[in-house]
Amino acid sequence: VIPQDHISDSAFFQNYDLKIALGEGQFSKVFLAIEKSTGMNYAVKIIDIAKYLPFQFKPFRNQPMDEVNIMKKITHENIVRVKDVFVTEQNIYIVLELCKGGELSKRLQKRGKYSESNSKIVFRKLLSAVSYIHAKNIAHRDLKLENILLVSLESDTDIKLADFGYSRFVLSGNMSTFAGTQNYVAPEVILDSNRHGYSKSCDIWSCGIILYVLLTGSFPFIYSPNEKPINKQIRDGDIHFPSEKFQGISDKAIDLIQKCLIMDPKLRITADEVLEHSWFFEN
Ligand code: ADP
Ligand code: MG
Repeated sequence: VIPQDHISDSAFFQNYDLKIALGEGQFSKVFLAIEKSTGMNYAVKIIDIAKYLPFQFKPFRNQPMDEVNIMKKITHENIVRVKDVFVTEQNIYIVLELCKGGELSKRLQKRGKYSESNSKIVFRKLLSAVSYIHAKNIAHRDLKLENILLVSLESDTDIKLADFGYSRFVLSGNMSTFAGTQNYVAPEVILDSNRHGYSKSCDIWSCGIILYVLLTGSFPFIYSPNEKPINKQIRDGDIHFPSEKFQGISDKAIDLIQKCLIMDPKLRITADEVLEHSWFFEN
């Protein structure tokens, strides 16, 4: 799993100073890091290899180096760039371009919701990134507002896609391990996870959920103790578009969300088709 030529115990700390924590996930912690030779700021994602061990025989998540190997193949203005990688016996240090504005989820919380014009700018950039990775037969598999980062505190729309921890190379429909986060997960991922496999179109479902949340500030599900669990609502296609939530939002925006949330992944719109949708070409 770990390429021997990468082993260098203290090389990361020789080159960088660790500063404040920026974020934390199940297998990793992300910190602000300053490159000693230049004073430049970066983010470093430190993956604890040992935390993967209990999952080794469950195809739950990728092997730790997969994330690095996939990210190294990606160069896109709306995807976080890898600057450097250090591997020790315990940790992988992925030095990343720093996104000073933090998670889009937090920005949206502050704003309540995004205007249709700002949503359009964000969504076009997101789909440009998704179209790029899909053309390389890479599926992200964990698209959500927490994994979309803002470049600066000043702009609400300058975004970069992050966290390739669940991503995979796919040809067509050959993924069969569960991935993704409950609210954003596509129906075929829940239904077919151990049988037929599913393909990169699960990313487009997540994009549909993202656009819904940007425009309305809420998820399309009913959260109530009397209602079915969310994954059952997804499997049954119970996606709600109440008129109160969509007041003032164009029919074209709703049409695009609905095309992203088509239940059958084979009929669902593709990333390239999203970018051609008439919503992007109206004033
Ligand atoms: P995990 O796989 O543990 O979810 P992520 O790659 O999503 O790890 O990183 C966790 C969090 O760390 C992100 O949600 C974000 O808040 C922060 N983060 C990650 N990468 C960067 C970055 N390049 N710049 C700024 N913050 C980052
Ligand atoms: Mg994440």
